[in-house]
Amino acid sequence: MTPDMDEKNENLHQAGREQLTLYGISGSPGIVVGKIVVLSHQQDQSACYRLDADQVESEVERFQAAVTRAEGELVDLRRRFEDDFADTLSIIDSHILMVRDRMILKRTTRLIRDKQINAEWALSRALGLIKEKFERIADGYIRDRFADVKYVAGRIAGQLSGHRPESLAGTAEEVILVSDDFSPEDTIRMQSEKVLGFLTEKGGVTSHTAIVARSLGVPAVVGLEKVTSICKTGDTVILDGFSGRVYLAPTRDQQLQYLEYDRQHRAFSDELAWYIHLSSETVDGLRVRLSANIEMPAELQAVQQYGAEGIGLFRSEFDYFHQDHVPDEDTLFASYRDLLAGIAPDPVTIRTLDVGGDKFAAYLQDSGVRLDLERNPALGLRSIRFSLRESALLVTQLRAMLRASCYGRLRILLPLISSLSELQRVRSILHAIMEDLHREAIPFNPGVEVGIMIEVPSAVVMADTLAAEVDFFSIGTNDLIQYSLAIDRGNEYVAHMYEPLHPAVLRMISQTVEAAHNQGIEVSLCGEMAGDVVTAPVLLGLGLDELSMRPSAIPHVKRLLRHSYFRQLTDLGEKALKCGDGGEVRNLLTGYLPRYYPEEFGNR
Ligand code: PEP
Ligand code: MG
Repeated sequence: MTPDMDEKNENLHQAGREQLTLYGISGSPGIVVGKIVVLSHQQDQSACYRLDADQVESEVERFQAAVTRAEGELVDLRRRFEDDFADTLSIIDSHILMVRDRMILKRTTRLIRDKQINAEWALSRALGLIKEKFERIADGYIRDRFADVKYVAGRIAGQLSGHRPESLAGTAEEVILVSDDFSPEDTIRMQSEKVLGFLTEKGGVTSHTAIVARSLGVPAVVGLEKVTSICKTGDTVILDGFSGRVYLAPTRDQQLQYLEYDRQHRAFSDELAWYIHLSSETVDGLRVRLSANIEMPAELQAVQQYGAEGIGLFRSEFDYFHQDHVPDEDTLFASYRDLLAGIAPDPVTIRTLDVGGDKFAAYLQDSGVRLDLERNPALGLRSIRFSLRESALLVTQLRAMLRASCYGRLRILLPLISSLSELQRVRSILHAIMEDLHREAIPFNPGVEVGIMIEVPSAVVMADTLAAEVDFFSIGTNDLIQYSLAIDRGNEYVAHMYEPLHPAVLRMISQTVEAAHNQGIEVSLCGEMAGDVVTAPVLLGLGLDELSMRPSAIPHVKRLLRHSYFRQLTDLGEKALKCGDGGEVRNLLTGYLPRYYPEEFGNR
């Protein structure tokens, strides 16, 4: 710590302000200490009035002109930042597309015409309807995307009312910004005005403030209830983007302690960056592919940035949920083609639609898919079961995948397979599609790899039989844990029993690996535990060929791998399989991890 910094921190100490710890969600890692600026957010105070019949068409034109200006503004923003913020341009691109999306445009124009109301009012009612639809989506990532729709609608509303976005132009020093939420564009724009960090009331790990802050390397804590009313401009805080905590009015000692943590973390992440370009293998040469799990094509940049060796899981639901209608074959084809071409020659594993339970876009029901309320959605019509029942959707998706298969290395992944006959039904649909494509002279790769997710205990038990019918396995431990331990993965009351290291889970993984290898096929694991540095060594010891995880976790897991010996890992795996319960496995790790990886586990 330099004397300068000492003095600076001394100045930051605030006498008379009550000390408080606020608990949020880690949005972007890193620690900063600084003064905050609370940005007032625009309340929805748009004018509401009814129109005479002869005013309706000119109101529609006024709305469309605002849409055109909002689009122009975004295009301009994109142009201004394209050199410095290439990582996040895809988000601005998606907003540019969204301005013209039917979701906002058609609904608002219809409301202006049908209800004879002004454009601001119609837009805000349209947004309310879209919000209801998003709220019914169980998948947190996709639900969070409502923030984009809201943001885009906000820009159109800004054009209608003439409001300009806020700026930090008058602020001299570097500050931590606080708001209910930031749009990606705001996050970028503010960053260019020297922002130390972001705190938001709204959002989760997958909100855009979090995504953009991570890609800019700016610490952020999101989901901080009431932070805009608890904190005042001028308050000093410690923002701990690792733990998701914020300390209001910290003592000088606390500030120094956190700045030291930050220094240590920075040194470690600088070191991790070295691993991005190194091969993923143990000291004695055992190679394990480390690939990426992604939810939307916009994450392609991160896949490359963190050195993933392909995409181990593309959750294809995004294309179905970010618009209000079923995507057609051409749309899906274009999306898959770009993904495959962008990653080639590395593989891209595209999973067929994994919806079900309460994870339905409302339009799927509107368009004729009848789903009575299920009593036990996790055991109901989800995933491949839904796709097989609504086979037209499955055929469209598989046709799009096959057409894209010429543009790179595609692996088709079927989720929640629980029996051989289910797999055979998909196989015969795939076969029929191939015959059609052949007849229509549409090119595709007839040797495309087809694999299944192992996430149901029956699939583990039947793994030897199933392995003979597919090209690869991918173990989905998020679901396998839920189904084998009878723990609802989304239920906070039993969350403490959700134990990835339960020996029953580890034995299922080991059994699956053995069955796959006996048939000469590869086996990947794409549940959350693949990217956790505590559980990853055990998984590596169980003989998996590939671990697929969120892109940013790859360098750290690779570092563990490169510091390991094959024999040590298998020894750990064998010992873990013999343990009586998850606690025993964790005790085993408490002895093992600090010994072999002293830098990350030595001080715990
Ligand atoms: C899993 O179940 O482990 C998995 C990767 O799939 P999802 O989390 O999408 O259900
Ligand atoms: Mg799953």
